Parts: sequence; C-alpha cells; structure tokens
Amino acid sequence: MTIKEPLFENPFVGYAYSYPHKQAYRPFESAIPLKALWQDEPTENLFLYVHVPFCEMRCGFCNLFTVANPKGNVEEQYIHALKTQATIVKEEIGPSQFARLAVGGGTPTFLELPLLEQLFSIIQHNMETNTRDVPFSFEMSPKTITPEKLNFLYQNGVDRVSIGIQSFVENEQKTLGRPQKNKEVFDALAMIRAVDFKTLNLDLIYGAYGQNADSWLFSLQSAMAYKPEEIFIYPLYTRPLTGIEKMAKNEIDNRFHLYLLAKEYLTSQGYEQISMRMFRLKSIDKTADNLQYCCQEDGMLGLGAGARSYTKYVHYSSEYAVGSKNVKSIIQNYIAKTSVDYAVADYGIKLNDDERKRRYLIKSILQVAGLDKRQYQAFFKSDVLADYPQLIQLIESGLCFIENDTYIRLTSEGIDLSDAIGPWLYSDEIVAKMQDFDLK
Ligand code: SF4
Repeated sequence: MTIKEPLFENPFVGYAYSYPHKQAYRPFESAIPLKALWQDEPTENLFLYVHVPFCEMRCGFCNLFTVANPKGNVEEQYIHALKTQATIVKEEIGPSQFARLAVGGGTPTFLELPLLEQLFSIIQHNMETNTRDVPFSFEMSPKTITPEKLNFLYQNGVDRVSIGIQSFVENEQKTLGRPQKNKEVFDALAMIRAVDFKTLNLDLIYGAYGQNADSWLFSLQSAMAYKPEEIFIYPLYTRPLTGIEKMAKNEIDNRFHLYLLAKEYLTSQGYEQISMRMFRLKSIDKTADNLQYCCQEDGMLGLGAGARSYTKYVHYSSEYAVGSKNVKSIIQNYIAKTSVDYAVADYGIKLNDDERKRRYLIKSILQVAGLDKRQYQAFFKSDVLADYPQLIQLIESGLCFIENDTYIRLTSEGIDLSDAIGPWLYSDEIVAKMQDFDLK
C-alpha cells in the first residue's frame, strides 16, 4: 500500500497556515521577559503584524479571533492599549526594523477613520516605521470601507488590500452565515479599484451548502470582472463553535471537485498557482517586491490581542478563543494590561530543533516553489531528506519530486492534497496538544 491512498481518502484534514497551530499553545510556567526572548534574534528584517479583533458581523464559517460590533468604546480602549504595548515592546526588543507590515483581524476597516489614523501613528511613531517604505497589507470587508478610509490607506503606504467576498451568490452568502447584498459587494470592489492599490486580493470559499459547479464558476467569473492580482480560494471547514456548525450541509462533499474546477479556470484566466489556496496574476510586476523578509527564517512581531509573535525558539501570543464571551474577555484582559504585563510573554510554545525544522518544511513544501535543500542545509546544518523520510514516501507515491538535486516540490497532484500533507507532517506532540486543547 502506498501513502497515496490514505491521503486521497480525505484531502481536507486541515489548513496548515502556521505551525505549530495556536491550539498547541499553553501558558508558560513562568513569564519570559521580551528583552531576553529577543536579545539573540536578528531584528533587522522583521514582519510586523497588528491585529484588530472587531468585525461588523460574525461570519458563520469563521473561527478567527474576533468579536462582532463591540459595545461602548472598546475600540478606543483597544487602540490606546495598542499604543502602550507598541511603546513597551519596541523598547524591550531593542533596535529593530520591519521589512513587511500587515494589519489583519477581524476587520481592521471596522475602525472609523480617526482610530485608523491613530493606528498608523502607532506604527509610524511608536514602532518607528515609515509605512510608505515597506510592503503593507491591510484587510477589509465590503461593508466597512469608504472612499475616505481607502484614500487614507493608500496615501499612507498600503499597497495590498485583501477583502473577503466568499461568494457572489447571495443564497450561498446566507448559508455561509454571512448575509450581504451583491450591490454592496460590487460597490466596494469598484471603490477599491478607484484607488491605485498595487494588489487587490479577493477571498472566495468553496463547499458552501447548496453550491454547485455552476454557481462556483459564477463566483469565479464575477471576480474576474475586477481582475484581482491575487485570489485566495478557501475550502469550507465546519469548525467547532462556529455559526455553521449546526446549519445544513451538503450531502456529498463536493469540495475537491470545486477546487479542481477553480484551479483549471484560474489558470486559464492568466493566474499562476502559488499554493493550494493562492493564485496570482502571472502578468503582475514582481521585480519591485520586497524580498528581504523570509517567513521561514525571519521573526514576526505581533501587536494586539490575538496576534502571534515568532522568535526562533518561542512563539507567543495572547490566549485563543472562538466563542464570543471568551473572545471579549481576552480582549478586556489585553486592554487592562499594565506596561509590566506587555513586557513579557506568558502564553505560547517553545520550539525544539525538530519543531523548528518541521515548521520550515511545512511552510516551504506547501508552496508550489517548494523547499530549497541548500537553504535548509545552510540554516539547520542537516539534510532535510534524512530529517524527514516522509518526503521520500511522498516522492515514491508521485506527490513530490526533486528538481536539479536542489528544489523539493510537490507535484500538481501533491499541491491538491496540501490540506492532507500539511497535517500529516505535524509532530505527534503537536497533534496531541491540539487534540487536548480546550476550545472555548
Ligand atoms: S470571516 Fe472575516 S469578516 Fe467574517 S467574522 Fe471572520 S474575520 Fe470577521
């Protein structure tokens, strides 16, 4: 029996978008001062991620750390807390530079313009980063953008905007627990295209209740009217504590069929596949891309409740929850923190050498570009094929190949099975921790 058969049994095990998953995080026995955590880290090419955990609605499929329509002045308090955290963190980690910026959530454009201005001021002044000098990505939703907000983002250096549309079929939007009017969506996309952002990314979901090949193609074709530079297509997962958990589901799982349709269609429209989810227009100019930051090797600094930070050996964040009551309580704890609290990491995971290597492997191999054996060797002083014989199994089963004795890449069929291969590469310890996690 080859391993190909079990992988084919279920191509949709899980999305390995980060490793280790936050559900493997736990409270540290004792808090670690950020100064100690970052003192031996290279800090000249960091990724700065700022999390804004607010949305105008809680989509039925979403398990991200966010809360819908917070009451009172929670957003103001949150931005105030963010400023305090930024000041402390910048001091603690010492001289540092950011090669890439992203503000995500949640829906950062849920913030009104004066709060967005404060958010940018925090990045520019407290984090000492010129937002116009580095690639800068910003997430948004159709209902929360205005021409004023978009112009502000553009004038201040945002060059990639990412918007979740999910479907252009109103009935499917309802079954996804994200009711929205198409007119609102079309107006929002036209508004974005009226501003000269370098990259528009559009998210779509396949596998919604009632969705079929025709309606899925309709959504893909509707997206083409705006020629987004990037499209992410997400298989629908029904995750615990989300709104769709108790809603109707398709009798037959058609996700793999819909995925293959999208892959064929997007390729025919001039897109190249970057990973199972990501497709990018072939014609866009990549020469100006800032290539300084490498997610496998460089650190990430997260600000805000829900944001993770990555050093070589420690990943940390605030606690994680999905249920509204618990998300609210974590946000309140974040707002109530003192300067002393922001100066330490108290929740996360320590990575041993094996987990660091696995992370590198998983982050690389699930991209069409694959893993560069020489870089892995230079980074870890060991051979990836010896470290992870699973790669040999993948090669023997026709899901992976080695090019020029250097690049280890999944075949097209292997990329299609990314959501099976990724979790298959997790260590037993991480799987056990994720299974033990008490999701609230
Ligand atoms: S999918 Fe996006 S807009 Fe919907 S609840 Fe999640 S973060 Fe908010």
